[in-house]
Amino acid sequence: MATDRLAGHARLEVVARQHVPSSRLISRNPATGEVLGEVPFATQSDVHQAVERARAAQPGWAATHVRERVAIFKKFQRLLTDHKAAVATLITREAGKPYVEALSTEVLVALDAARFCAETAFSFLRDEPLSHGNLMVKAKRGRLVREPHGVIGIISPWNYPFSIPATETLAALVTGNAVVLKPSELTPLVALELQSLLHEAGVPKDIFQVVVGEGPTGAALLSSSIDKLVFTGSVPTGKRVAEAAAKRLLPVVLELGGKDAMLVLNDAHLEIAASAAVWGAFMNAGQTCLSVERCYVHRALYDKFLALVVAKAKRLRVGNGLDPNTDVGPLINDRQLQVVESQIEEAKAQGAKVLAGGMRLPEVGPTFYTPTVITNVDHSMRLMREETFGPVLPVMPFETDEEALRLANDSEFALAASIWTKNRKHGERLARQIDAGTVMINDVLTCFGISEAPHGGFKASGIGLTHGRFGLDEMVRIKYVDNELVPGLAKPWWYPYGPECAPQVEGAIEFLFGRALGKRIRGGLRAASGLLRNRT
Ligand code: NAD
Repeated sequence: MATDRLAGHARLEVVARQHVPSSRLISRNPATGEVLGEVPFATQSDVHQAVERARAAQPGWAATHVRERVAIFKKFQRLLTDHKAAVATLITREAGKPYVEALSTEVLVALDAARFCAETAFSFLRDEPLSHGNLMVKAKRGRLVREPHGVIGIISPWNYPFSIPATETLAALVTGNAVVLKPSELTPLVALELQSLLHEAGVPKDIFQVVVGEGPTGAALLSSSIDKLVFTGSVPTGKRVAEAAAKRLLPVVLELGGKDAMLVLNDAHLEIAASAAVWGAFMNAGQTCLSVERCYVHRALYDKFLALVVAKAKRLRVGNGLDPNTDVGPLINDRQLQVVESQIEEAKAQGAKVLAGGMRLPEVGPTFYTPTVITNVDHSMRLMREETFGPVLPVMPFETDEEALRLANDSEFALAASIWTKNRKHGERLARQIDAGTVMINDVLTCFGISEAPHGGFKASGIGLTHGRFGLDEMVRIKYVDNELVPGLAKPWWYPYGPECAPQVEGAIEFLFGRALGKRIRGGLRAASGLLRNRT
């Protein structure tokens, strides 16, 4: 089977890295518990050696013409397109999500990210002239040069095991960096698949390496000599990563959790908004950083909206993601399921009412949970404050726009939000008042697949951006190169100062910023006399 061919290929890559593994990581299918493969853990020394190999190879990669890197990206696109079914099947088997979601939110997103990088790389990496507004420094040519950082470390989560590391890796590679990726311990085979495809496309082996392991392997990457880290994961781990990075002033991008609000205004398309809420909350079994985790509905629509979402949630089919009839797959593991259950049980004890779902489905498999609609909720409940990361849609009414905004912004997170209204201008006005890195008007989640759009949040949702030009910006350092047009001329502001220097500078200030024309002319003449002083 194609999947086995690819997965087997990936395993060989790891074994070929000639280290003695301390132990092995077992990858399992969350839908069935079936063992999918075993991969050796990378030890701290493996990680450090991988980074050193990447460092040694990176200057050669940075020296390749952008055209060569783009050609490799196009080959990667062709390979991924050819193997889309095998790659998506592996994603479904290792992460549990329905096959159609593996295709649309993983394979397609990575393909489009490659398209964006290939189209943007030339203009992005071209030196940018910088003109000077200050007359005193007119005799210069300035330019901005974008240089790769060197070796980028990437630490990624399990919920989008292909598209998250792929988009970040592609941005790093196209700008001339080498990458060492530490994927989630729950989805190592998918990361190794990405490695196989990139190597087959022509990315040199030392320029993209995967080191497999748990938290300590991520910590080893942080303690290595990487030049920048792009971390995607939970807030608690993100804080630990930020602390470790601060100790050595390592620049980091942190893409962390979310508690995204959906605001359904009184003029929303009711049926469409209800379908969006159900998809936005239950896609990938709610295990998406951009999931709808809080839904606020105008009182005028509230009852009808609830009836619609309950009916739609009850129609969803829960099962193995490989079954084409499945809408919602399993949670990734029992720990995640317990988080969901504890939030629901606590909310119920505080008065919340479950209108649909709210229970495990052991007859389907160990970590399946019914799509749950819950109401009578408020912000005193953990369910409305902490990330749930499960198939749960809490719905709460509001009366005015001001109340809706206050509720949306009453969160430690600020990743994304959505507003549902027929009045698009009104939606835009409210969007500006919501604390979030992205606000979608009449859509949810799709922003992650728009390669041009920046992805990232404020507050506890993180620091920095991935995707789009801003994501490319994170992968380069900006060097300002200043080139003097008259190299043989000493500057009038150099030593020795002497008693005449300060009046000349005063003259320059009058000339540049003085109010009266006469004063400006006199100031200019005083400043010009400085040009004639001998400074050599
Ligand atoms: P996690 O924080 O448990 O793990 C993320 C990664 O960090 C894993 O690879 C893990 O092995 C590694 N890690 C663990 N301890 C570490 C340490 N001490 N040092 C370095 N690395 C360490 O998160 P998860 O459960 O894999 O992912 C789910 C979380 O990710 C959710 O909170 C979700 O919102 C968030 N997420 C955010 C985005 C985004 O773009 N903002 C996208 C996807 C997921």
